[in-house]
Amino acid sequence: MKKSIRNFILWLKGDSVNKEYQKIKQIKNENDLLNFHEQYLKKLILHTYYNVSYYQDIFNKIGIVENEKVNLEKFHEIPILTKELLMKHQKELLSKDYMNRRWYRNYSGGSTGEPTMFIQDKNYKKWYTASEKYYYQDIVDIDESNVKKIYLWGSPQDLFKGSIGLKNKISNWFKNTLILNSFKMDQNNLLSYIKTINTYKPDLIRGYADSLYELAKFSEIKNLNIYKPKKIVSSAETLTTEKREKIETAFGTKVYDSYGSRETASIAGECKYGLIHIFSFNNFLEIIDRNNNPVIEGQEGRIIVTNLHNYSMPFIRYELGDLGVLGPKKCICGNFLPCIKRISGRFEEQFIKKDGSIVIGYFFVHLIGVLLNKGYIKKFQIIQEDFDRIRIITVLDKGLPEFEKNEIEKKIRVQMGSDCKIIWDFVDTIQNTLSGKYLYTQSLVK
Ligand SMILES: [Zn+2]
Repeated sequence: MKKSIRNFILWLKGDSVNKEYQKIKQIKNENDLLNFHEQYLKKLILHTYYNVSYYQDIFNKIGIVENEKVNLEKFHEIPILTKELLMKHQKELLSKDYMNRRWYRNYSGGSTGEPTMFIQDKNYKKWYTASEKYYYQDIVDIDESNVKKIYLWGSPQDLFKGSIGLKNKISNWFKNTLILNSFKMDQNNLLSYIKTINTYKPDLIRGYADSLYELAKFSEIKNLNIYKPKKIVSSAETLTTEKREKIETAFGTKVYDSYGSRETASIAGECKYGLIHIFSFNNFLEIIDRNNNPVIEGQEGRIIVTNLHNYSMPFIRYELGDLGVLGPKKCICGNFLPCIKRISGRFEEQFIKKDGSIVIGYFFVHLIGVLLNKGYIKKFQIIQEDFDRIRIITVLDKGLPEFEKNEIEKKIRVQMGSDCKIIWDFVDTIQNTLSGKYLYTQSLVK
């Protein structure tokens, strides 16, 4: 019953992704995938050539479009779009017709690199939703939209307003979904989360790697049993071997690692044999070395992504700032999608409170990301110097109004305690760490 009503609502809102999912399902082997890429890359490049001023000169220079025909052999000559270029050319990267494309704003948080704002649209959203559907249904082997599930991830609305709101509650009920707020991870909450999992008995748990890890650690220390779901899928942060082992032991089931980004959404997901399959019907992915040549199997390189479906602001050969090791051509699970063996680069540091509980770095990225979105600041970094001292370093854009500053401080104190001292540093530039990584959050409390 719930299922039919939900499908009906999706259909009414024009949000059904059946059409996109069926297109993905028609790809049955490597050859079909090549044809799919050819068709979608050509379409995207033509659209971009006629509508996106940033690429017009570039395409003319390399001659990728001639007489309205695309020569894909020149695709690799398109210069890499870095985060710096994206920031600098935001306006020129917008498609002339984006206003007609049911667009919305998004900004990059998490991972590495310069944070920035960009535009995405309905078509983009449908394809990444269909890609996720494919991942769960055809690789993880679970009917994600219908089974009972728990999401362990950030809900600012719940943290600051004390509730997720009636609309979300109804929507979650229809989706058989419970949300446990990973922005609230103190001892009492962790205990109640375990109780909720044990009573609700979810088939699937999805969560940030660090939040799943904290929950697993807590259950071990307190010697508490947790209900064993059929599947667990981790996202957002790097799932290190240590974290994976702890989570798998606590829940008694395998964790599937998934990989995505704010800029290009669903990118890849792990199968039961441990390889990470690339959803190349959503993003065309390349792994290249220092000299921009494709890497061979087993070699690590920079991950470059072309999203095939966001026409309102096309990202062509976009460098995410993550590194990946190219996997073998064929996986024993039988799925034909190409694989990555390992991904590195996604991390933020957690903050620790006096009572030993943690606050995940994502919380701060969300919070300060809003200022970025509103154009007040250009860049930020948040450092925990002591249990109750936090330094916010920002590069200003148009300047930060006092009320916004107060609001942020208020919200940090809700999370970190009312006596938390907050220091603002306004600087001209923020350096990357020695390894070349950009950290949004860093904790000096160990
Ligand atoms: Zn596989």
